[in-house]
Amino acid sequence: HFIVLEGIDGSGLTTQAALTARWLEKFNRRAVLVTKEPSDGPVGSLIRQALSKRLGGLGGAELALLFAADRLDHLAQQIRPALALGGDVVCDRYLWSSLAYQGLELPREWLESVNEKAMAPDLTLFIRVDPKITLSRIEKSRLRKELFEQETTLQQVLRNFDDLAQRALGRGENAAIIDGNQPVDRVAAAIRAELARFVRK
Ligand code: C5P
Ligand code: MG
Repeated sequence: HFIVLEGIDGSGLTTQAALTARWLEKFNRRAVLVTKEPSDGPVGSLIRQALSKRLGGLGGAELALLFAADRLDHLAQQIRPALALGGDVVCDRYLWSSLAYQGLELPREWLESVNEKAMAPDLTLFIRVDPKITLSRIEKSRLRKELFEQETTLQQVLRNFDDLAQRALGRGENAAIIDGNQPVDRVAAAIRAELARFVRK
């Protein structure tokens, strides 16, 4: 299974991806690749430079195309090979992040079309946390904020994620909203409950 965790900055995606993978490994008795976007491939490292210093004034559309390219590279180099070996994949951010973040300034239809070649995940879990909570977590953990890490921006990104979740659920796609405004172990338990339901289907 290809499982994706989505949410705004500071939602605990990395922590929950690790916990989810450890649990899934025992539950399904097969290898789990834990991975993330931007990936650790060549395009992913360009993106990280762009996010920290806005690489020579790189614009929103350029960044969106880098994310789309990184996604295809990540699929080819890591995700598809892991699935082909019969493993599960837990990915920290995927297509919804592009639609939610790059969607701040670009039309959704264009973003969807440049991402047309990216395979759909089997399940998308949206870890929903209030931006006030995520920003206080971010402030405790490091000094400098990255691009997008302001409350008004994150409120808008959250609205985009909410919209994506509603549309996906409306179309009967495999997606779930997890209440992330809770302690780590409660969030992990909510994710496990969704996964157990999904894996049994
Ligand atoms: O998850 P992490 O914080 O490491 O991701 C790096 C940043 O990249 C995020 O803070 C998010 O703002 C941004 N991002 C984005 N579009 C994506 C994925 C991530 O703008 N598709
Ligand atoms: Mg971040």
